[in-house]
Amino acid sequence: MDIIFDLIEKERERQSHGLELIASENFVSENVMKAMGSVLTNKYAEGYPGKRYYGGCEVVDEVETLAIERAKQLFGVDYVNVQPHSGSQANAAIYLAVLKPGDKIMGMDLSMGGHLTHGSAVNFSGIQYDVVSYGVQQETGLIDYDQMREVALRERPKMLIAGFSAYSRDLDYAKFREVADEIGATLWADIAHPAGLVAKGLLNSPFEHCHVVTTTTHKTLRGPRGGMIMMGKDFENTYGHKTPKGEIKMMSQVLDGAVFPGIQGGPLEHVIAGKAVAFAEAIDEQFLAYAKQVKSNAQALSKAMISNGFDIVSGGTDNHLMLVDLRNKGVNGKETEKALVKADITCNKNMVPFDNKSPFTTSGIRLGTAAITTRGLKENDMETIAELISEVVDNIKNEEVIADVRKKVNGLMEGKALFNY
Ligand code: PLP
Repeated sequence: MDIIFDLIEKERERQSHGLELIASENFVSENVMKAMGSVLTNKYAEGYPGKRYYGGCEVVDEVETLAIERAKQLFGVDYVNVQPHSGSQANAAIYLAVLKPGDKIMGMDLSMGGHLTHGSAVNFSGIQYDVVSYGVQQETGLIDYDQMREVALRERPKMLIAGFSAYSRDLDYAKFREVADEIGATLWADIAHPAGLVAKGLLNSPFEHCHVVTTTTHKTLRGPRGGMIMMGKDFENTYGHKTPKGEIKMMSQVLDGAVFPGIQGGPLEHVIAGKAVAFAEAIDEQFLAYAKQVKSNAQALSKAMISNGFDIVSGGTDNHLMLVDLRNKGVNGKETEKALVKADITCNKNMVPFDNKSPFTTSGIRLGTAAITTRGLKENDMETIAELISEVVDNIKNEEVIADVRKKVNGLMEGKALFNY
């Protein structure tokens, strides 16, 4: 047997025994897993359902059409493209569809909670486009919408990005739209993180305000690793789009062309099948209970962390994640992440707004509740988790205490299945 399968088993053990607090992770269902590990991986299907460049696509056409229809139902949108291989690919397609290289964009600064693809200097978005950013207020940790508007009016970016990887509050998409309209910019929302909560109406909807919306499918949405592009109600009609070459096209055509042949070749139909399964699961009423529990657990965890003396940026959370500012504890994000991993608690080091440490060290960690909620943990477990994190942070060099915390973590997770639904 290939050693790879031993390693997969080892990873299954790690995931089973540990507390998964990485805000961007989740545990898919057995059916999502089955769809991904299927013969659909053998099939080439460049193009779109009914318009392929390969023969034998009758079955995958049905798979992809189902994925599209289910996503439309789940989010209540008119247009969906399920082909992006990842969130970054979905985002790359937006740039290609809307902009010319060198155009100006405006997103949330990476160090304030934005994503690499929103204009970071080390990403294609920062390399190929002219970037200006907005951020949060130092005192409140909340997005400074006035500053955002001021920069937008001065710099006049062609595209405005509403989205984040590490911001624990809901977004005011209407406000973003007002600003975008003032300068004639395209408004793009990247809901990669909160998509599952947005789908169930537990957070503001971007669809009535934003021209285009992208997401990943593997975070709060609890599907396979991948990306997706969506468009709300009437943007297809009102937003007859001039391509960078000057042709007028419908926005849906431009977006489809940007994904294939623009930035991708053949779609991953096995992953698209996994997306279709996950969308059906998310349409189900049970997913509403899950999404509510994710939010409630995040609020309970943030409260319990504050009770244990931790600083939470913005003082709490509206979604599934929170940023812990560790500066008052005299430890940095890097050493904390490392010590927590020894205790079988996984999270990631993260810069906090106005951080004076580098992205490799950081002053904070980011915690999320999407994955532990899938494992069945509830509000009272959040108190235990905050205490366990506190024990590790207060004894960051004490291997004995950390080993003891690991035993408690393994005890907490014992008997909790990886596939829970
Ligand atoms: N957009 C946001 C806001 C994200 O947080 C992420 C991933 O963390 C992505 C895009 C990129 O997704 P992927 O890692 O699938 O490329």
